Amino acid sequence: MTTIAFIGLGNMGFPMAKNLLGAGHDVRGFDLSDESLEKLKAAGGVPAASAAEAVSGAEVVVTMLPAGKHVRAVYDESIFPNAAPGTLFIDCSTIDVDTARAVAADAAAKGFAMLDAPVSGGTGGAEAGTLTFMVGAEDSAFERAKPFLDIMGATVVHAGAEGSGQAAKICNNMVLGISMIAVSEAFALADKLGLDRQKLFDISSKSSGQCWAMTSYCPVPGPVPTSPANRDYQPGFTAAMMLKDLELAQQAADSAKATTPMGKKAAEFYAAFVEKGYGALDFSAVFKTLRGN
Ligand code: NAD
Repeated sequence: MTTIAFIGLGNMGFPMAKNLLGAGHDVRGFDLSDESLEKLKAAGGVPAASAAEAVSGAEVVVTMLPAGKHVRAVYDESIFPNAAPGTLFIDCSTIDVDTARAVAADAAAKGFAMLDAPVSGGTGGAEAGTLTFMVGAEDSAFERAKPFLDIMGATVVHAGAEGSGQAAKICNNMVLGISMIAVSEAFALADKLGLDRQKLFDISSKSSGQCWAMTSYCPVPGPVPTSPANRDYQPGFTAAMMLKDLELAQQAADSAKATTPMGKKAAEFYAAFVEKGYGALDFSAVFKTLRGN
């Protein structure tokens, strides 16, 4: 049994912490929300009064926070000053590559091992313990963290050195954002051309237009019964979250001087969609704007 501090018990963090508890670990959690702390207590964890209190005496610290600025602040103010020597840090938040590398470098300078381990799989994957982890870390830190990641996920990939997990996450989600717009445009055009949606699906899902946005998450109701289009685009993965990841990809592209014209267009497209007030809908709801209804 390992004593684990878990900071950030939101939609993703709470079910992940619950799975660590279920595997027999001692989890002390902290979140700014009292409701989250109550849920942790009810699940058998120990709610802490502060992040500093949760970290004191822990062997492993897991963070699952909204963005880079939260991760920077929590590590600087609560984790670095209170962690015992040798504590392993695992940041599962989706944040910008530069902050991930900078915080990991600061951890290393203080003698701590740190991983960036963002996830895909959503809240369903977090609850079922079937997340995919994309990990940036030294080999030895990866080996130490793997048993804990295996509890929370089904697939754990060591992507490279620190920052590589975040790089993998935003590259993957840039493909997804662009391809969802492409598939939605194709269905909107098919409607205008009088082509039956199911027929386009039957053909495209077996042809060169095949991709995850088409075959697993189809943006029109019908062809894929589990896709959010069948429940009036309730998420799923919100358009606001897709925008966040596309903006992180653009930030990384600017920083690395990479050319990503379609990624830029996709970020602008989702920004306009969120601006219209659709941020809480599933990201596949862009079909409705393209269709014009
Ligand atoms: P969330 O908003 O539900 O949870 C974040 C939690 O962090 C909140 O409960 C908030 O109170 C807490 N928090 C913020 N600042 C804090 C601080 N200083 N100290 C302690 N707690 C603090 O968000 P989420 O959906 O759980 O997402 C968390 C991360 O996972 C994000 O980076 C997100 O991009 C990523 N992610 C989310 C999904 C998803 O489907 N929800 C999928 C993959 C990745």
